[in-house]
Amino acid sequence: MSRGATVWLTGLSGAGKTTIAEAVAEHLRAAGREVEVLDGDELRRGLSAGLGFSRQDRDTHVRRVGFVAELLARHGVITLVPVIAPYAATRDEVRAQHDARATSYLEVYVATPLAECARRDVKGLYARAIAGELTGMTGVDDPYEEPDKPDLRLDTTGMDVTTAARQVLDLLIERGLG
Ligand code: ADP
Repeated sequence: MSRGATVWLTGLSGAGKTTIAEAVAEHLRAAGREVEVLDGDELRRGLSAGLGFSRQDRDTHVRRVGFVAELLARHGVITLVPVIAPYAATRDEVRAQHDARATSYLEVYVATPLAECARRDVKGLYARAIAGELTGMTGVDDPYEEPDKPDLRLDTTGMDVTTAARQVLDLLIERGLG
């Protein structure tokens, strides 16, 4: 069985996490690997239904997703997790849970700056936050604690998706997981 791993893509909304995760997944599937993308929005409708965006609820969501990711990764699946995960301590907890089982864990910080994320405004959330129609928007009026030692840092400003995905694939190869 190939070695699994969790690849957690953290960063602001609109940074490119989901787009990169899907591109990486497509490439790995074509190469015959077992891959899952644990999409945050989808999991919030199922696994984390009923949770909101308070610090406590965000942490619970991240811990649940981390638990599922570790299970999959332990069984040989490359598990891509495009979930904001704004708090450093909670991300570290998820990494520690992987370490405890010797399951590979890579943190990719999709470091696209707020101004670029707001310019893209994929879901229209930044416009709503700026208009005061939405509170607790990460990066606007809710914290995002930047990772200080990510395995990879990617600012996608002016970068195409293929290049961004290539960097994640190269990281997997470098760590013997590709
Ligand atoms: P997130 O999952 O971080 O909220 P999305 O992947 O949903 O972000 O949205 C990112 C947007 O940025 C998409 O519309 C995507 O096409 C665009 N984009 C532009 N350049 C890149 C890049 N190099 N990598 C990823 N996304 C990019």
